[in-house]
Amino acid sequence: MFKIINMDIHALYKLYQENPVISTDTRTIPEGSIFFALRGEKFNANTFAAQALATGASYVVVDEANYVVDDRCILVDDVLSTLQQLANFHRQQLTIPVIGVTGTNGKTTTKELLYAVLSQKFKTYATKGNLNNHIGVPLTLLAIQDDVEVAIIEMGANHLGEIGFLCSIAEPTCGLITNVGKAHLEGFGSFEGVKKTKGELYDFLKRTDGLLFLQGDNEHLTEMEKQRGINHVVRYGFSSANDIIGKLETANPLLTISWRTHKEGEAALSIVKTNLTGSYNTENILAAVAVGLHFGLTKEEVNVGLESYTPTNNRSQITKTANNVVIADYYNANASSMAAALDNIAVIEASKKAIILGDMFEMGEESFVEHQKVIAKAQSIGVDRLIFVGKAFYEQREVADEFYQTTEEAIEAILRNPVSGCTILLKASRGMAFEKLMEVL
Ligand code: ATP
Ligand code: MG
Repeated sequence: MFKIINMDIHALYKLYQENPVISTDTRTIPEGSIFFALRGEKFNANTFAAQALATGASYVVVDEANYVVDDRCILVDDVLSTLQQLANFHRQQLTIPVIGVTGTNGKTTTKELLYAVLSQKFKTYATKGNLNNHIGVPLTLLAIQDDVEVAIIEMGANHLGEIGFLCSIAEPTCGLITNVGKAHLEGFGSFEGVKKTKGELYDFLKRTDGLLFLQGDNEHLTEMEKQRGINHVVRYGFSSANDIIGKLETANPLLTISWRTHKEGEAALSIVKTNLTGSYNTENILAAVAVGLHFGLTKEEVNVGLESYTPTNNRSQITKTANNVVIADYYNANASSMAAALDNIAVIEASKKAIILGDMFEMGEESFVEHQKVIAKAQSIGVDRLIFVGKAFYEQREVADEFYQTTEEAIEAILRNPVSGCTILLKASRGMAFEKLMEVL
């Protein structure tokens, strides 16, 4: 792979054990940390090495010799690979279950739900925020301290091979793919590319005899499992063949779910009132039930965990504004999460509804068709007001309704003709900056 020029991995690991805080952000360097001077597109953190030492870092890891100022500088071939190698070395010292979570949509929500449930019984560590890539996964692993009993690692990908690589670093003992859908098609090439990449988690679990939690009613995921024949599988879903069987009872707009185990049957039904909206979250919740029960939690512990989770991150968050109830889901958007969000607003009980959708980014060649499908689906719901925002939607403005090229134009239009008394779905890719719309709703 690469070699550490003036220190081997064991020696570096010893330094990490003595200074178990890693920093990569030049703006906040904790006292006594090891600063890894990563290189981004715009800047080269090697140039901050001396400053990092001056402001509190115990050591810096650099990959350019001319930034070595004293023997607190560790010179390596490649800082990023060293960070990944150190993270994997640390991972190998841990003898705890490591749960890998990937998928097109719902990774963070599922991770948070898993955390809420497992923390009822165990000292649990989960990925902070959305630190799910080739840098975030190593940082997550290196933040796991000795007293942690279970770790949950979110793994994201936008190109082929990425999940396999993250698995090789995190070495999950079990895991799940939330779902596979059309997102980041520019990086994956096609939906097949998405399945192949996410499936690298299944490849890893197969190879290491790990345990898979499987949404047993998702035809893509079940097919992907079948192709590999994974030995240990716990199934969750809606049909009676699953090990954990759940049902969405009500969504008005918060979800009430019922669930039971296949073994126990109908008589042992649990009812859980959650603080989540979005019917698509039902399967995320059932994943957390499956994981919780597998790790020996009681039903009560599982349910208390589920009830304790309130999203705060603009993922399926409900906000009462001056004039409306807003389902704020503008953290991201792709073809499958748009469809799921539309299914959800369709079933929500409300006297008046509005839908405001912004462009889905990174859709590549399928962008036109996928935006077209979203328009058709949104129109089929029959809401009181339907607004589309962004260049991709605007290209198809001849199909009636309201279309605006930019979020600013949509704001002006809403100021002229306010939306009020509605339950509103607000969904777009992050780059559309839909949080600005909140002020006029
Ligand atoms: P990212 O790729 O940004 O890390 P993520 O996979 O972590 O995203 P979340 O942040 O949990 O996903 O959720 C993002 C959005 O995906 C939600 O607000 C919702 O619209 C949609 N979503 C969540 N769960 C599902 C699901 N099971 N099926 C379809 N869509 C879902
Ligand atoms: Mg996420």
